[in-house]
Amino acid sequence: MSKAYDAVIVGSGPNGLAAAVRLAQEKLSVLVLEGAKTIGGGVRSAELTLPGFTHDICSAIHPLALGSPFLRQLPLEKHGLHWIHPDFPLAHPLPGGTAAVLHRSIETTAADLGPDADAYKKVFSHLVSHWDELACEFLQPLLHWPRHPWLLARFGLKALHSSSSLASSRFRAEPARALFAGLAAHSFLRLEERPSAAFGLVLGALGHSVGWPLPKGGSQCITEALAALLRSLGGEIKTNTHIEHLDEVPLARATLFDVTPRQFLKIAGDRLPTSYRERLQKFRYGPGIFKIDYALSSPIPWKAGACKRAGTVHVCGTWEEVAFSERAIFAGKPPERPFVLLAQPTLFDPTRAPAGKHIAWAYCHVPNGSTFDMTERIDAQIERFAPGFRDCILARHRMNTTHMEQHNPNLVGGDINGGLADLRQLIARPILSSTPYRTPLPGIYLCSSSTPPGGGVHGMCGFHAAQAALKQILHKS
Ligand SMILES: Cc1cc2nc3c(=O)[nH]c(=O)nc-3n(C[C@H](O)[C@H](O)[C@H](O)COP(=O)(O)OP(=O)(O)OC[C@H]3O[C@@H](n4cnc5c(N)ncnc54)[C@H](O)[C@@H]3O)c2cc1C
Repeated sequence: MSKAYDAVIVGSGPNGLAAAVRLAQEKLSVLVLEGAKTIGGGVRSAELTLPGFTHDICSAIHPLALGSPFLRQLPLEKHGLHWIHPDFPLAHPLPGGTAAVLHRSIETTAADLGPDADAYKKVFSHLVSHWDELACEFLQPLLHWPRHPWLLARFGLKALHSSSSLASSRFRAEPARALFAGLAAHSFLRLEERPSAAFGLVLGALGHSVGWPLPKGGSQCITEALAALLRSLGGEIKTNTHIEHLDEVPLARATLFDVTPRQFLKIAGDRLPTSYRERLQKFRYGPGIFKIDYALSSPIPWKAGACKRAGTVHVCGTWEEVAFSERAIFAGKPPERPFVLLAQPTLFDPTRAPAGKHIAWAYCHVPNGSTFDMTERIDAQIERFAPGFRDCILARHRMNTTHMEQHNPNLVGGDINGGLADLRQLIARPILSSTPYRTPLPGIYLCSSSTPPGGGVHGMCGFHAAQAALKQILHKS
């Protein structure tokens, strides 16, 4: 490692790779150092259960990748990435055997929502028709001069609510309320907490504007495409290189860390000014997750037909049940009837399992650091809406919060978003600044999902960190 590089990136998650690609696009020499033996961080696939069954260890469904202003302009399809769109992005089964469905079309979605059809259109239409401009506004630090202030203000008026206040003021019937609850619960916040509505609005709008696609062959294909693009631009990647301290990083004009504040404190804490160190020490992590990957003998026998055509299924039931489950986590209890996020890739991508067999990807939220075994509770929730599900299970692979963190040190206590995304930490992530990627150390940046815009596979944290590096260091003089 004696060669000098313009930029070194520590960590090869989607943000690390996006940062590396952006810097390599400017013809800089770039090296990515990855601690694990495989690249990709939260975007990797593997045969977790049985031979021939390819499971996504972390991310599975990628509206944010397709909606990302940076990733979507990269020629990733030329490097093997192929997006598959399920018939329906999302279904949410309800007690009684029916389901609320998020279709690609707002009109079709609304038409199914009976008394809430007009309200649904009112909530989402404006957002969807201005998605491109809005995505650029909120997929960056909130502290910035907006290019579309009126659009952003109109979105903010709705988004800064809790999902419970938005839903109770707009929707009357269970299907629309439950559908919105499931979308908003991706926030890892209580539904009564602000700004959980923002997550519901963004994920719903993404479903209508770009869809909730999955990559053919598994999420690893996103990573491989980014890595291939990086190499085609001259970038290098080295695995099995876990960085413990700043001194181990080869000298470079810019070093970007795809790690969370707790790890950065270990790596560079002794060099950081006290005030910055104290701010990072106060950074808060969110709830963790418990995940099960299933190998199945047949598709899941959902009672509601719509669930058999959806890529993602939100399994919990009514608005109140989702709210109850998410409240339990903040009371420190693993929920009795968890809100289960489930993806069923093989309904649309048969390459992921042997002929006629299937996989399912499911997780639920649990308190940070919880090691409680949620297997029975997750199985029971699915069985409740798909009687006979247990009979289809050939094998399970389970991960609690400890396994998650062992798999990837960024998943602190099982937090998959790089830190709690409440109002405070959406604005100050990890510090209050228009360039929170910069650290007080010259040429050293943070580029992980602990920076804006936060969790998800969009690469925008890496993109903005690379822009900051290009501006401050590489284009100086
Ligand atoms: C179970 C699960 C399900 C998810 N589902 C989805 C989904 O369906 N859709 C979606 O959009 N998002 C999903 N996410 C979130 C998404 O995966 C993350 O937000 C995203 O991967 C964050 O990217 P990142 O680059 O910031 O960090 P990561 O992807 O976590 O990558 C960080 C990388 O840095 C490496 N690293 C850390 N410390 C060091 C060190 N000291 N030295 C060297 N290397 C180091 C790690 O090994 C890792 O490879 C999911 C996450 C999980 C865990």
